[in-house]
Amino acid sequence: MMSTNALRARFVEYFERHKHRFVASSSLVPASDPTLLFTNAGMVPFKDVFLGGDKRDYSRAVSSQRCVRAGGKHNDLENVGYTARHHTFFEMLGNFSFGDYFKRDAIHFAWEFLTVELGLPKDKLWVTVYEEDEEAERIWLDEIGVSENTFSRIGAKDNFWQMGDTGPCGPCSEIFYDHGDHIAGGPPGTPEEDGDRFVEIWNLVFMQYDRQPDGTMVDLPRPSIDTGMGLERIAAVMQGTHDNYGIDVFQTLIAAAADAVGIDAAKAEPAQQSSLKVVADHIRATAFLITDGVMPSNEGRGYVLRRIMRRAIRHGHKLGATGTFFYKLVGPLVELMGEAFPELADSKAQIERVVEQEEQRFALTLAQGLRILEDAIGAMSGTEIPGETVFKLYDTYGFPVDLTNDVARERGLTLDTRGFDAEMSAQRERARAASQFGADYHAKIDVQSPTEFIGYTQTRGSGRVVSLVQD
Ligand code: ATP
Ligand code: MG
Ligand code: MG
Ligand code: MG
Repeated sequence: MMSTNALRARFVEYFERHKHRFVASSSLVPASDPTLLFTNAGMVPFKDVFLGGDKRDYSRAVSSQRCVRAGGKHNDLENVGYTARHHTFFEMLGNFSFGDYFKRDAIHFAWEFLTVELGLPKDKLWVTVYEEDEEAERIWLDEIGVSENTFSRIGAKDNFWQMGDTGPCGPCSEIFYDHGDHIAGGPPGTPEEDGDRFVEIWNLVFMQYDRQPDGTMVDLPRPSIDTGMGLERIAAVMQGTHDNYGIDVFQTLIAAAADAVGIDAAKAEPAQQSSLKVVADHIRATAFLITDGVMPSNEGRGYVLRRIMRRAIRHGHKLGATGTFFYKLVGPLVELMGEAFPELADSKAQIERVVEQEEQRFALTLAQGLRILEDAIGAMSGTEIPGETVFKLYDTYGFPVDLTNDVARERGLTLDTRGFDAEMSAQRERARAASQFGADYHAKIDVQSPTEFIGYTQTRGSGRVVSLVQD
């Protein structure tokens, strides 16, 4: 069986053999992009290279970039514990061409890596192209020999990538793995695709146009390649499980989480298994965000971290933890990932300290807040938790709205978000009135405020959930 660490090394070696420069993972806090909450793809550290502003002494690169998708445009927070393939923190393997090779080589590399290097059976792989990208279609069907039976043409929503409203953009081609008909789900492009049977493993982006402010597409003088493959997803394939949480890294973290809360992972019921997955996922995001200098706080990135930590702490409490437990997972995580990420190992003591402090802080209000929530649920006639309760939990007990929503969702309930909004505005109004008699501290609260409720987000296969938008 190929370990996740061995797989990462194999990917890097393969592309080094093909003249790619290995570039170490950048920080989760994007160095040069204030518009982005977290590094959420392998291309982020190369953005300026693609745009031409940053010149490097190589035109091919390979990396395993640490990513977080827990806020902003890509938010998978609410998927964690519910789908088999989403994490808040994950590694994105990628090969990049900066005006060097293009579509044909990118497709050949990806196919060779999967079918020759890793030896995956061709009939288990499913390929999609952008519906107007005939060039890619011909390469896949005629040169690679992919069958029409495992091939689909997809619209722009999933298979056309763009950096922003203007600038570099282009069609994508994605490779999926079929975990077998014993798992529910349909092929890409069908209504059943959200199941766990066909899992998207690799996205190849062909940057070939430069979109102008008036919408016209100009050919880029030197088209480029950006690819991204989820390390945990391909590790699941290689380790014979359809579930990312079944891979070596997560099995070890789940066992450590069970240990820390005092239960037997092998005997965990489905709800407990789900909580263990959340805790195992969230310790990675927590530890790496702290490594990269984010501290739990009430605004911006720090608030996203706090939400992740408090969500994990609540699940630990649900599993039966009576005291602090979350910080105990830092050691096992460093054992697993410290070699690949020395900065994580170097920050071990600091991470443990910050996590334990946050656990102690939240312990003061968690139990009380949960009691208030139970009382409110007991007193309700419908299925909607009153906005007043959601606000009180948020404001007085330090419950991020998505934490309350997480509890609600477990019980088949929803939140009165309009009521919450109203309470929130009323509080702002009070602050504004108060500020007339002193310093205008309200001026600091802008629309980017992390507490701003923006609306509902549709997450795949999981119904309507509340989401706090950060950027
Ligand atoms: P999905 O449709 O499954 O949500 P995506 O289309 O949002 O994935 P991309 O933006 O194309 O993902 O990212 C490239 C690759 O990164 C994906 O093919 C997948 O292997 C991996 N990936 C994306 N999001 C996650 C996540 N939340 N957890 C783990 N791996 C992920
Ligand atoms: Mg996604
Ligand atoms: Mg997708
Ligand atoms: Mg994709």
